Amino acid sequence: MSATGGGATAGGRMAGRKRGAGFLHERVLRLLELRYPRPLTGLELVEMLLDTGEVVPPSQVYRALKRLIDAGEACKVLVAGGYVPAGPVPAMLFWCRGCGAVHAVACPELFARLEAGATAAGMRDVRSVVEVPGLCGRCAGRNPA
Ligand SMILES: [Zn+2]
Repeated sequence: MSATGGGATAGGRMAGRKRGAGFLHERVLRLLELRYPRPLTGLELVEMLLDTGEVVPPSQVYRALKRLIDAGEACKVLVAGGYVPAGPVPAMLFWCRGCGAVHAVACPELFARLEAGATAAGMRDVRSVVEVPGLCGRCAGRNPA
């Protein structure tokens, strides 16, 4: 509960060894990559870690996600309420409202245009996120509207 704990927990079942923050960072990124194109929520990540025997409080998972985002290795997909891994090039995020898959498509020209527009508007430190909802090929084929 408290983020400022840190004392020894009585009867704690946590692994005795404390691993560095880098460990969780890596694990979370691997899970995101494993599940791509399906976005994962923070709580799904907590559960997946639990399935492999890692007891990690949600607050730590969210901290790892924040670090991944700050490092440009993951991004949050607002429309999907989850996270996907991010490549080195800014990408448009196509979200399927049928199955929930997110496909990241690199589009440096679009982001260059956005940045130019932002600069013209006097904006600094712009982080554009482009999310485009639609239906993926499979879902569109399944129920042709
Ligand atoms: Zn779909």
